Amino acid sequence: MLLHEQHHEIRRSVRDFVEREIVPIADQLDNAEKEIPLPIIGKMAELGYFGLIFPEQYGGMGLDTVSMALVTEELSRGWLSVGSVMTRMLITGTLIQSSGTEEQKQRFLPKICSGEMLTAAAFTEPDVGSDTAAVKLRAIRTGDGRRYQLRGEKTWCTFANRAHVLTVLARTNPDLQPKHKGLSILLVEKEPGDGFHPPALTGGAIPTIGYKGMKSYSLGFDGYECPAENLLGGVEGRGFYQLMATYEYARIQTAARAVGTAQAAFEAALRYAQERIQFGRPIAEFQVIRHKLAHMATDIEAARQLTYYASAMKDTGKRCDLEAGMAKVFAAEMAERVTSEALQVFGGYGYSREYPAQRFWRDARVFRIFEGTSEIQYEVIAKRLLQGD
Ligand SMILES: Cc1cc2nc3c(=O)[nH]c(=O)nc-3n(C[C@H](O)[C@H](O)[C@H](O)COP(=O)(O)OP(=O)(O)OC[C@H]3O[C@@H](n4cnc5c(N)ncnc54)[C@H](O)[C@@H]3O)c2cc1C
Repeated sequence: MLLHEQHHEIRRSVRDFVEREIVPIADQLDNAEKEIPLPIIGKMAELGYFGLIFPEQYGGMGLDTVSMALVTEELSRGWLSVGSVMTRMLITGTLIQSSGTEEQKQRFLPKICSGEMLTAAAFTEPDVGSDTAAVKLRAIRTGDGRRYQLRGEKTWCTFANRAHVLTVLARTNPDLQPKHKGLSILLVEKEPGDGFHPPALTGGAIPTIGYKGMKSYSLGFDGYECPAENLLGGVEGRGFYQLMATYEYARIQTAARAVGTAQAAFEAALRYAQERIQFGRPIAEFQVIRHKLAHMATDIEAARQLTYYASAMKDTGKRCDLEAGMAKVFAAEMAERVTSEALQVFGGYGYSREYPAQRFWRDARVFRIFEGTSEIQYEVIAKRLLQGD
């Protein structure tokens, strides 16, 4: 897909930010297992990255999905964790935009767009991953009807410590069948910080192999309260459908994160292949290495084009779950292949913490797992193909 001049301009401006602010610090912070510094998140907010696709009337920039994919790709080229900060605001923001009441849109969206309100997604539970409809965490309405009390566990809630709002998928009705009809989404406010609010809300970071710039948390809710007016859309039982409606955006954005990560690995390998001398010449002169580079570039471009195409489809307002799913699954698997090949080009140095090849590879492994595993994506794609609609 050919991009418009405005898109090229957006890419140039994000790349400039990333080269100045992210590339110089990413390896050092990743190696030290340090989170993204808050001033960087502040700068991202100032540049409007959290409100890209939201309407201007709610403080957003009103840009198209292609622009969102481009910004994501460029940020992830610097550091996957940076490209992933905006995922959280995108998920909560699109949920509010598509399913929130007017009062919720006015209360939450401007603060999400400005970065004043950071958010995190709390959908997964220790026993509930791919089977979202089986969520167990209970939200029980208090006798006076004014609040919900939350009881249960969530896990893998990335950015939970820094968030002001946890977007929680909860069971408001345990008796309704089929079970997905008993789910609702609550916008659960909290103070940011690693301490959480014990004993009602506790949290512990999960040690991971990559994605080091953000921490993912296991959370325990033991009576933590949320005002009833924070029930998304104001009506119980719609949570599952509300969430499904945002999957297209989230999958396109994840595909773009994979493209950016793979692009960074490719560029590093390309440079190294021209500098590294073996048998008296740069390794880039060996056909097997040249062809690796050619395969990597081709693989990345195929994923990029699928991502842009799905984005453009989204902008037409037509259903694009098939295109978004294909872009996500292809880009996820491409990123794993490309980052592994990039590490191979570096030889032994690829295995060393002194070079970034290992960071790209560790980060890329997560794409096949989150935002719908590859196995689930193929099921979604196959279902659509077999239905023939
Ligand atoms: C770094 C990281 C960050 C994350 N951040 C968040 C976050 O911010 N918020 C959040 O809510 N979650 C988050 N997640 C959780 C993520 O969305 C889940 O890990 C994912 O949905 C898979 O669920 P699971 O891990 O429970 O695996 P399971 O669902 O238990 O799956 C295990 C395996 O079985 C396969 N499988 C399951 N069902 C089927 C089926 N029907 N057909 C075929 N194969 C199947 C899966 O593909 C997988 O290979 C994060 C995960 C990671 C690793």
